[in-house]
Amino acid sequence: MPEGDTIYRTARALGRALTGKPIVYFDASLIPLAQANDQTPFTGQTITLVESRGKWLLIHIAAPQSSKAREGFVKGHDFSHAEKTRQINRALAPALNHSSERILATHMLMSGSWHLYQPGDPWQDKDVNARIILEVADYQAVGFRIPIARVYTPQTLARDRKIPQTDRDVLSPSFDAPAAVKRLLARSNDELGDALLRQDVLAGVGNVFKSEICFTLRLNPFRKVNTLTQRQAKQLVVTAQKLLAANVLEDSTDLIVTYSGHKRRTTGKADPGDSLWVYGRKNEPCRRCQTPIQRALQGPNARSTYWCPNCQPIHKA
Ligand SMILES: [Zn+2]
Repeated sequence: MPEGDTIYRTARALGRALTGKPIVYFDASLIPLAQANDQTPFTGQTITLVESRGKWLLIHIAAPQSSKAREGFVKGHDFSHAEKTRQINRALAPALNHSSERILATHMLMSGSWHLYQPGDPWQDKDVNARIILEVADYQAVGFRIPIARVYTPQTLARDRKIPQTDRDVLSPSFDAPAAVKRLLARSNDELGDALLRQDVLAGVGNVFKSEICFTLRLNPFRKVNTLTQRQAKQLVVTAQKLLAANVLEDSTDLIVTYSGHKRRTTGKADPGDSLWVYGRKNEPCRRCQTPIQRALQGPNARSTYWCPNCQPIHKA
């Protein structure tokens, strides 16, 4: 499953290609999107923002303001000269009716992905797998195999509990770290590995980062959250932020990299087994102590967890 860093990079690429541009073509086979498009077509509306929230990708779309409404807005008030000039400038720029804003939210689960093409580029997936097609004049965004899509207004999005608010997203500039430490410690009876996966605790952390974060701090992923000190909880949040942020730098690859071995730096070829401390390395020697890495299924969803039994011993109360 793509983790927060992948969705962040996708949102960044889509945002750069689409933001501020009117939609010239829209089609979707997913029912909530097709219905919203039937009611008020997305074509002709403008993309105002593309953002990631944890593992969700959000495309904000607003209708252009009608010229009548704009005129009324400028003429109807007695503005000072400077304010009038500002209003007129604003009116001449592509004015958007933000009260009409709709937010198209997609979740990739295991298989979904967004592709970005320029006119004439061949698609990298089969036509039948395309669920959403969204075009501006110079780019085409195609959502392949996307299983979950919803349409929100700003109000319904603010109320939604599934899609994290920005202060819970470890990659957001408005991420609230002290609040995240509190939420983590509140999961006192959870095993650490399970608590780290909860999107309502730390949005964006997925199964790979979970194991890597625990290894980085030498914490056993099966210990209960209530055995952690306040300081350890703080370090977990800081490390989550640090590891994810390192994977959204401009030159980051599609691969999650938490360990930069000498090999991948010199060959330039990123092998998944070479870019991580423990994830996917069952029975391979620990990069710190040579002890074979262990793997076990953890939690209600039986997600695989990797750890070094020597560097991350079971906590004894
Ligand atoms: Zn070790």
